[in-house]
Amino acid sequence: MFSSASFLKSSTVIEECPQDQKPEFAFIGRSNVGKSSLINALVNRKELAKTSSKPGKTKLINHFLIDEFWYLVDLPGYGYASVSKTERKSWIVMTERYLQERENLVCLFVLVDSRIPPQKIDLDFLNKLGEWGVPFQIVFTKSDKVKKTQRMGVLKNMQTQLAKTWSSMPDIHFTSSQSKIGLQQIADLITYYLSLIN
Ligand code: GDP
Repeated sequence: MFSSASFLKSSTVIEECPQDQKPEFAFIGRSNVGKSSLINALVNRKELAKTSSKPGKTKLINHFLIDEFWYLVDLPGYGYASVSKTERKSWIVMTERYLQERENLVCLFVLVDSRIPPQKIDLDFLNKLGEWGVPFQIVFTKSDKVKKTQRMGVLKNMQTQLAKTWSSMPDIHFTSSQSKIGLQQIADLITYYLSLIN
């Protein structure tokens, strides 16, 4: 999919993020959604993003340089119960500012667990993205755990929820880092966007 990937830096505020305007694609989702696994699978590296069952481990904006010309950004997971109010506030400030102000963000992939019905926290977050005008697509994770016959129902469920506040539907993808479902599709999408820029 992508041939080279290396960790570049962690940032706590947008001012610390790389200044060189390379196009970037960011990944976000609730803690434990399978974000690290998906990032690792996409770049075909076992441990580029740290996979961990400990909720809320990634609390920084992590930049990875891919194929020398674009950044993959691992954003801190949201919605973990075990953090303090102060930590949650700092997540909000860090992530909101990144999403609102980062000009070279091409697309945000919002990861949602395909095994569970749409959660309020995810829907609220998606609505905020709409308010801020952030370009995003929805990526269902762990689709290996959802039978093929059930996937249409999962998709419809999400669309029904979104239709309450959205007049048009974002793209929604099914993926699994375990069985590799949909990974090529995400890679192709990124490659397509990059082809428009370069
Ligand atoms: P993160 O907290 O969002 O970075 O999530 P992780 O990538 O650390 O994954 C959380 C848990 O979900 C781990 O136990 C993973 O093994 C599991 N997991 C991640 N991706 C998949 C997947 O595609 N399929 C299944 N069945 N489990 C997954």
